[in-house]
Amino acid sequence: MIIVKTAEEIELMRESALIVSKTLGMLAKEVKPGVTTLQLDALAETFIRDHGAVPGFLGLYDFPNSLCMSPNAQVVHGIPNNTPLVEGDIISIDCGALKNKFYGDHAYTFEVGEVAPETKKLLEITKKSLYIGIREFKKGNRVGDVGYAIQKFTEDHGYGVVRELVGHGLGRKMHEDPEMPNYGKRGKGKKFIERMVVAIEPMTNLGTHRIKQLKDGWTILTADGKPSAHFEHNVAMVNGKPELLSTFKYVNDALGIVSEEEAEFRRHQLH
Ligand code: MG
Ligand code: MG
Repeated sequence: MIIVKTAEEIELMRESALIVSKTLGMLAKEVKPGVTTLQLDALAETFIRDHGAVPGFLGLYDFPNSLCMSPNAQVVHGIPNNTPLVEGDIISIDCGALKNKFYGDHAYTFEVGEVAPETKKLLEITKKSLYIGIREFKKGNRVGDVGYAIQKFTEDHGYGVVRELVGHGLGRKMHEDPEMPNYGKRGKGKKFIERMVVAIEPMTNLGTHRIKQLKDGWTILTADGKPSAHFEHNVAMVNGKPELLSTFKYVNDALGIVSEEEAEFRRHQLH
């Protein structure tokens, strides 16, 4: 069952989402060769707690850390460790925060130094597919419309769309209805309703869409060992249109990226 939020609850969710956005912005400056994912995890935990929130993933389903850190061929749910990042890596960072009983949950794939052109392109297309999906999250549409749009754009570029892991409704729980696959058929699935909130999160592989799981019971990686990218936003339906609660503004500011990608989905001034 989709849990509709009040206008006040959406404002609380915006607060939680912005803490995650700012955490990713802080991390953007720290992602470089030599740093370990455990060091980044510790920075994020402190930052989240300093902002009056609790790390959303720590202890959730018994996950051991604050961030899911998935380098290179890892898709999602990687566990932070002591291996330093090296030039040419990519690192998908998924971050959650819980404040005022509501979750924020979003993700960005960072480049470590200079990465291969084909990997850079994978990141660019995956991020674009996220906004293409968000555009379909509107009155009259259904879950399948978002999935179809993401899948079409992604597969037109020859990439693999992960099937087993999907986006989701978000609120007092990290995972609420509906599931939001990054594939689907137009006009199929649950109908969107006013003041619902979802996490839309394409997970895109350079090669095959197939995945496998490490024996740690968490880490998902591509079956062919090729890189995978992951970008995620939290979106509320307000007046029949998608409104972003999270933002990559802080990441963009940290990395010197000028982007208008979010302008059409934003009603609020950010500080
Ligand atoms: Mg996430
Ligand atoms: Mg999520």
